[in-house]
Amino acid sequence: MSVDPGLALVALDRAGAARDPAAAHVAFQVSTLAALLDGRYEGELTLAELTRHGDLGIGTLDGLDGELAVLDGECWQARADGTLHRPDPATRTPFAVVVPFTPGPPEPLAGPLPLEALCARLDALRPAGAPACAVRVDGRLARARLRSVPRQSPPYRPLAEVARHQAVWETGPVEATIVGFRFPAAVQALEVPGWHLHLLAADRSTGGHVLDLVLERGTARLDGSSALHLELPPGVVAEARGGGPTADAIRRIEQG
Ligand SMILES: [Zn+2]
Repeated sequence: MSVDPGLALVALDRAGAARDPAAAHVAFQVSTLAALLDGRYEGELTLAELTRHGDLGIGTLDGLDGELAVLDGECWQARADGTLHRPDPATRTPFAVVVPFTPGPPEPLAGPLPLEALCARLDALRPAGAPACAVRVDGRLARARLRSVPRQSPPYRPLAEVARHQAVWETGPVEATIVGFRFPAAVQALEVPGWHLHLLAADRSTGGHVLDLVLERGTARLDGSSALHLELPPGVVAEARGGGPTADAIRRIEQG
């Protein structure tokens, strides 16, 4: 496959994904954003298979059943009612990205940092030359606005339609861990461009996709990714740009 802005892309089928060894700084993804936007919500890899490729990540679950966060190798499902659950490892995911998290030294974050300022700070901390990056932030938030989506049944509607019925709630003040990735706009048909963050409350009372937040203080650990390995379900193609969603369509999905 083509090499776009320094991010080496490798397409794999199911058998190839099963043989693909986890490697430091290599992110592993199930399916593509374009396929998810299109309504491909049926689960592909099991969470047990997914976590063989990485111990930190984000995604969703079979039938678009909530937001997925992977932290220290544990999978957490944030349901549309705002509660967190440990899904069965046999549950399948239609879209997720993980990495064997090997971060640099912890970087202190002094708040208050609204989401935009936090993202700018994370950009400044990104390892030089890394086209993509995984992050873990542990800290205290004054507040956070989270969202999740209710489980869908076939025939699946496009994500833009489903997102209109997303659940949005506020939490905080709260101790939490935030995990996520930053991908370049050049691969916007494959992954959400910019920072895409999911939150887990430290007491596991709630979690979800981060729409907004104010971080009071915390610590960031970043891990630059040089390659993205993609497990592609049958019929799903991996074009970084072509035929992919427009920036506007993504913004509609990723914001409240
Ligand atoms: Zn998300």
